[in-house]
Amino acid sequence: MAEKPPTTPRPDSGPHPETIAAIATAPGRGGIGVIRISGHGLLAISQALSAKQPPARQATLADFCAADGSLIDSGLLIYFPAPHSFTGEDVLELQGHGGSVVMQMLLARCLDLGARLAEPGEFTRRAYLNGKLDLAQAEAVIDLIDAATTTSARSAVRSLQGEFSKEVNALLGQLIELRALVEATLDFPEEEVDFLKADDAFGRLERLQLRLANVFDRAQQGKLLQGGLHVVLAGQPNVGKSSLLNRLAGDELAIVTPVAGTTRDVVRSTLQVEGIPLHVIDTAGLRATEDEIEKIGIARTWREIERADVVVLLVDARSGVGDAERAILAQFPAHLKRITVYNKIDLAGRPAELHDQADGQAISLSAKHGEGIELLRQALLRIAGWHPAEDVFIARERHLRALADTREHIATAQAQLPQLELFAEELRLAQMALGSITGKFTADDLLGEIFSRFCIGK
Ligand code: GDP
Repeated sequence: MAEKPPTTPRPDSGPHPETIAAIATAPGRGGIGVIRISGHGLLAISQALSAKQPPARQATLADFCAADGSLIDSGLLIYFPAPHSFTGEDVLELQGHGGSVVMQMLLARCLDLGARLAEPGEFTRRAYLNGKLDLAQAEAVIDLIDAATTTSARSAVRSLQGEFSKEVNALLGQLIELRALVEATLDFPEEEVDFLKADDAFGRLERLQLRLANVFDRAQQGKLLQGGLHVVLAGQPNVGKSSLLNRLAGDELAIVTPVAGTTRDVVRSTLQVEGIPLHVIDTAGLRATEDEIEKIGIARTWREIERADVVVLLVDARSGVGDAERAILAQFPAHLKRITVYNKIDLAGRPAELHDQADGQAISLSAKHGEGIELLRQALLRIAGWHPAEDVFIARERHLRALADTREHIATAQAQLPQLELFAEELRLAQMALGSITGKFTADDLLGEIFSRFCIGK
C-alpha cells in the first residue's frame, strides 16, 4: 500500500493549538505595555524568561531576561490557567514598560521561546472556539474598542455581556419549540388539524414575529450607533463649514476614531449627535492639483464620498445656491441624500427655519450664533433613521441580514400553513438564519472574515 503523503496539521487542530503571542497594548509610547501569550507550556516560557513560576491570577514582580541573561525589562507577570482566561486556554500576561522597542524585544524573546506571532483577532477567535464568547459577543469586543461615542460604547458592552445573544437565543428557543411541535405532528398526520388549533400555531408564529420585529428594531438602531452616519460637507470657502462643525459638535465632542489607512489623507472629523457618530468628510481638499500625493488623498476622499449617506451643502444665505455650488453638487453620486443649509441668517435678516425644496430639505441657520442648529441635528437624525430606543444592542449589517432572512422565512412559513411539510422546512431555514448571529451555524470562511478585521493582540 502506498504511503500517505504527510499532511500539514491545521494550526488550531489537535489537543494543543500553537502558542501565540502579541503586544496587546496600542503601538507607541505608554506608561505600561502588555504582551499576551495564549496556548500551552507557558510556565516553561515564564521560567526561561524570568526564572519565575507565577501563581494563578496574582501579579508577580519579575525581571525579564534575554537568552544571554541580560535584562530586557522588569515588570509584572500574571498567569491565568485554563479555562479561566480570556481565550479559555492558559494565558500569560507580561506587563512591561510601554515603549515600542522594549515591547518588541520582549515579544521577540517570547517568539524565541516557542510562541508564534498571533494573527489579527486570534485571541478572540480562540475565546469563541473555546465557548467563552459567542460570535455576536466576539464582534462586540471589537465594537467596544472602536466605539466612537459613549452611547455606542454602552451598547457594545451590553452586547458583549450577552444581551443581544440572549434575545436571539430566546427567539431561537421559541422557534425550536414550534419546530418540535410540527415535527411531532408530522409523525402523526391524522392529527394535523388538531395541532394547528390545539397548539395555537398561528398565535405562536405571531408572537415570534412581534418579538423578532422588536429585536430587529433595536439591532437596527445599534447598527447606526456602530457605523454612524457618513456626512459630506460641501461648500465654498468661508461659508462657515468649520463653524458649523464646531456648533454641531457642541459639548458632545466625540472621540475621533482613526480608521487605518485613511485618516492621514482624508479630512474627516467624527462628532456625535445624540450619541450617533457623525463622520463628517470635509470636501475643502477637493481641488485640481498636480501634486501626486495630494491626488491620492483626493481619490481617497472620493471613495469616502461614495459611501456617504448624506451631503450637506452650505451656502451663504445672502447669495443662495449659485453656479459654483451647482458644479460641486453635479459631481456627487445621484443616490446621496441632500440637505441645503443657508448659513449666516443673522446677516441676511432671515429666521431659522426648515423648508422642503425640490432636491431635498433646506435649513436656514446661523452656525456662528446657533439659531437653527437643532433643526439640522434633527434632520440628520431623521435621515439616519434614528429614534431613541431603550436597550439598543450594537449590531452589524451581518446581524441585520440574518434577522431579515429569519423574518422572511417565518413569513413564508406562515403562508404555507396548513401544509405542514413546507411550514416545517421554512422554520428550519429561519432557525439556521437566526443561529448564524451567535455562530451556531456559521461557515468557516465567514469566521475568517470576521476575525481578520480585529487588531493583532485582540
Ligand atoms: P469655512 O471656510 O467654510 O470653514 O468657514 P468658517 O467657519 O471658517 O467661517 C468663515 C467666516 O464666517 C468666519 O469669520 C465665521 O465667523 C463667519 N461665520 C460663520 N458662520 C456665520 C454665521 O452664521 N453668521 C455670521 N455672522 N458669521 C458667520
